[in-house]
Amino acid sequence: CGIVGYVGGQSALDVVVAGLKRLEYRGYDSAGVAVLADGGLAAAKKAGKLVNLDKELVTRPLPAGSTGIGHTRWATHGGPTDTNAHPHLDNAGRVAVVHNGIIENFAALRAELAERGHDLASETDTEVVAHLLAEAHSSTADLAEAMRQVCRRLEGAFTLVAVHADEPDVVVGARRNSPLVVGVGEGESFLASDVAAFIEHTRSAIELGQDQVVELRRDGVVITDFDGAPADVRSYHVDWDA
Ligand code: GLU
Repeated sequence: CGIVGYVGGQSALDVVVAGLKRLEYRGYDSAGVAVLADGGLAAAKKAGKLVNLDKELVTRPLPAGSTGIGHTRWATHGGPTDTNAHPHLDNAGRVAVVHNGIIENFAALRAELAERGHDLASETDTEVVAHLLAEAHSSTADLAEAMRQVCRRLEGAFTLVAVHADEPDVVVGARRNSPLVVGVGEGESFLASDVAAFIEHTRSAIELGQDQVVELRRDGVVITDFDGAPADVRSYHVDWDA
């Protein structure tokens, strides 16, 4: 439902949770975050309102990091439980992914992954993406390229945003039939399903096009299509009052 990604000099957790709160009006049934810190990845997710996630983060604080992603979920596949909430991780806990939309061919992908020994924990269509990204990353060592390879295998409508513990300064996003906007700040970059999530930080935005992948870093973004061809990038100024 709502997606936020951040890389920059601020606390990623603070920016992401504040961004999710700006997207609350869209309605949701669960929420979660993942942060890259100390060479690893830490995540927290809870069914219910963001206040439940806030409480979880007090009880079990995440390490401070400058790269993170977050999600508010509107369940389509699997009930609104803690396990089904996003982010979803691979078995090694190195990749985290959040997703809006529906992966239509998830059942076939789940069966394929199970055959290769992956252990899927949730009932969501989303979780397959975390496992596929982990596999693709083990051969490419490049999260954006892994995302392009995985997207070519997905059917349906999706916005995906992912991080990998091996690439602590990168957030990757992708979209097909579902919106995703980049926010370009000074030494910091944002990704969100809606500009409302980052408008207090920057008004310079780039709308991701259909079937495009973005690699987000503090000092800029690289956007390609699903085959890796560079995309035309045009930023615009967001001039409405949030
Ligand atoms: N289909 C995914 C799920 O049920 C994503 C739902 C959403 O867009 O929030 O987990």
